[in-house]
Order: sequence, then structure tokens, then C-alpha cells
Amino acid sequence: MELNNIVIVGASLAGAQAAQTLRRQNFEGSIVLVGDESHPPYDRPPLSKKYLAGSTEREKLRLRSMADPDELRVDLRLNEAATGLDVDRRVLTTTTGELAFDGLILATGARPRRLAGELDGVHVLRTLDDADGLREAFAARPDRVVVIGAGFIGAEVAATAREAGLEVTMIEAGAAPLSRVLDADAGMAIADLHRDNGVDVRLGVGVDALVGTGSVEKVELSDGTSLDADVVVVGIGVIPNTEWLEGSGLTIADGVVCDRTCLAAPGVVAAGDVARWDHPRYGSLRVEQWDNAVDQGGYVAKRLLAESDGQMVEPFAPVPWFWSDQYDRKIQLAGMTTANVEIVQGSIEERRFVQLYLGDDGQPVGVLAWNRPRQAVMARQLLEKSAGIQEARDALA
Ligand SMILES: Cc1cc2nc3c(=O)[nH]c(=O)nc-3n(C[C@H](O)[C@H](O)[C@H](O)COP(=O)(O)OP(=O)(O)OC[C@H]3O[C@@H](n4cnc5c(N)ncnc54)[C@H](O)[C@@H]3O)c2cc1C
Repeated sequence: MELNNIVIVGASLAGAQAAQTLRRQNFEGSIVLVGDESHPPYDRPPLSKKYLAGSTEREKLRLRSMADPDELRVDLRLNEAATGLDVDRRVLTTTTGELAFDGLILATGARPRRLAGELDGVHVLRTLDDADGLREAFAARPDRVVVIGAGFIGAEVAATAREAGLEVTMIEAGAAPLSRVLDADAGMAIADLHRDNGVDVRLGVGVDALVGTGSVEKVELSDGTSLDADVVVVGIGVIPNTEWLEGSGLTIADGVVCDRTCLAAPGVVAAGDVARWDHPRYGSLRVEQWDNAVDQGGYVAKRLLAESDGQMVEPFAPVPWFWSDQYDRKIQLAGMTTANVEIVQGSIEERRFVQLYLGDDGQPVGVLAWNRPRQAVMARQLLEKSAGIQEARDALA
């Protein structure tokens, strides 16, 4: 089918990258970028790091890929939400009307899980508005900050709050921070890092209730104890933004389900945190990472153009890549983690190390690097070329 107009839903990292890529690939048709936020597309990683700490200003967050929508000839529509999709008619419904498309890119990302109840002082962190609210709350110098969930967002917020001199307790229901992602040793290294920086880290304990009159005052824990709290930050994972696609006929299962080339239906592709695709190496995968949103946004743009030209496309098969900054540590993860892990460089005690994660066949599938940026870059290259275990050990040692 000839492509004359492409609509992108989600005016953030993956969507903006897709729009820019379409122009770079010389797509001359119309591009409409629909986003339900009020801000022009911005970058999220600083929201839990430098922006929250007050050391980066708002202007610096603007996404470079969408710095000038007019120059890119992109019709950027802010404050507009997609509400429905008719795949057969190729029509998108939004809060302001209908948009016909030849190609549609779904990039609606994800939103934070919340705990029940509506109390002031309880925060999540996903958007610039969330970050502004939390920044203001920290600036008011609360006596006690409680972070619920020691995933990457929770751990980064705890570190930023602690570096601002606030009293912080971090609660994690799992046996170690990031227990769904990292092995127990690396997870405990994160717990120790926070403890050494003065965070009260409580592991293996859940939250029963947030209690207060109007504003949060206490966090009741599953072990029967409670914590005083003026500010609570809930970092317990995200939910892909797919509700608006119910009834569209697309398959939704913890994300928009796509094939190996990120195609969800004829003319409809998905990218970024919302996309669940069939990764040739790792199987069904949905990735909540910055690099993936950029790569997949670019990929789906090219994929739509290739389809309309009748060309075959290679499957989308990146090595996932993630980083996190906590205190003076840079934690970088390439590929996937498994229970089968060995340290190939440094030691956990030094908090400078490289861990090699092995798959069922004993070959490398992931690498975690703590303050080892050179090895992290190398790890990605090794995984991309499916290096064997000895080559990986030698290169990373
Ligand atoms: C605080 C924070 C720190 C992070 N730090 C790191 C990090 O250090 N390293 C890393 O690799 N990753 C990090 N990430 C993750 C990274 O930012 C995400 O993976 C990335 O933003 C995903 O981009 P996306 O475009 O897929 O989705 P999003 O950025 O979530 O954007 C989706 C957009 O679609 C909009 N939308 C949703 N529904 C609709 C609708 N129906 N109609 C119109 N618009 C809609 C949303 O409001 C949003 O603007 C961090 C994320 C956060 C929140």
C-alpha cells in the first residue's frame, strides 16, 4: 500500500525517533505525532537523577529528535489522547476527532503502578509533572522520605534524595533490590551501596497500607511495623498504556503483541515500552529501556517504509542495554540476566566488577558492569556477535 500519511501515537522517545527517522529516510508524506502530555517531547532518565537533584534545567530535557517539529514537517499535537483504533478502516480516534492513516506507529509507553488510596505526599515518577511535584516535595525538606520498591527508579530516587541530605527508607518486597533483574549478589551490592550512603534499606517486607488524614503520615508494613513518612515515592513497576486499544482487534498481552518485525497488524507497528515483540534470540520481549525506545522507534519507521516498497525487513534483534546512575556508581547492563553467573573482573566488595550471565547452553547472554564503562561497551559488542564464553571472559577480564 502506498504510504501518504503516517500517524504516530505517543509524543515521547520512541515516537519522536520514529518521526525523525521517517524524514531522514526521505518520507515526504504527512506525519502527525499525537501526544497526551502538555510538554513538548522530553527525556525521562534525568527525571530521577540530575533534574530531580536540581542540577539540570528543564530546557535541557527537550528531545533532540523533536527539537524543531516545524523543520521536520511534523504536525505535533500535544494534549491530545488517542482513544480508539479501527484497524480495518485505518482510522484513529482521538479526543479531538478522527485521523485516517496509511501507517500507524504505536508508542504510548507505560505508566507507573500505584498503590490504593489518594493521599497528598504520595508520588510516582514517570512524567515531567511528576518530577516537578517530587522536586518541590524534596525542596520542602521533609523529615522522612519512604521509597517503596527498590527497582531502578526507586533506587535512583533514594540516591538522589539521600544526596540532597534527606532521611530515606527504601522498602523492597523481594529478598534483594532488583531481584527480578539481577542475581542476588549484585542486588545485595545495591542494598549495601545504599546502606553505606545512609539509606535505611528494608528487604523482604511489603506495604500493607499508606495511612494519613489528607496527607500521608505512615507506611504500614507487612511485618506489622510502621514507618513515619512525609513523602512517599512508589516505584513498583509500570503498566503499558494499551487500554485505549481494547476492541481494536490487536492482540494485547502486557503490551501490544507484534511479530519479529514489530508489526501488530497490516500497517500498524509498535515501538518502545509499549511494544511486545518476538525477539529472534530472547523470545517474547517487552523492554523498558531508553536505548530500546530509540532503536525500535527508528526501526519501525524504516519497517513501515520498507513494507510499502514491498521490501523484506530483517527482524528487530537488538542486544538490550540499560544504565543506571546511583551515587558515584554507573551500573550498565547489556543483554539478559540468568541464574548462571560468574564474575570475570573486579569484585563485588570493591563495587567495581563485571558479571557474565550465561544461558542454558553455557554461552554468554548478558553482562553487568559496575563502574566499568569500557567493558560495558565491549560487552554489548561481544553479545551482538554472539561471542563464546572464552572470548567473552578474555575480552572482559
Ligand atoms: C524517571 C525515569 C528514569 C529512567 N531512567 C532510565 C535510565 O537510566 N536508563 C534507561 O535505559 N531507561 C531509563 N528510563 C526508561 C526510559 O525513559 C523509557 O524506556 C522510555 O521513555 C520509553 O520511551 P517510549 O517513547 O516508549 O515511552 P514513554 O516515554 O513512556 O512515552 C509514551 C508517551 O505516550 C503518551 N501516551 C500514552 N497514552 C497515550 C494516548 N492514548 N494518546 C496519546 N499519547 C499517549 C504518554 O503520555 C507519553 O508521553 C527511565 C524512565 C523514567 C520514567
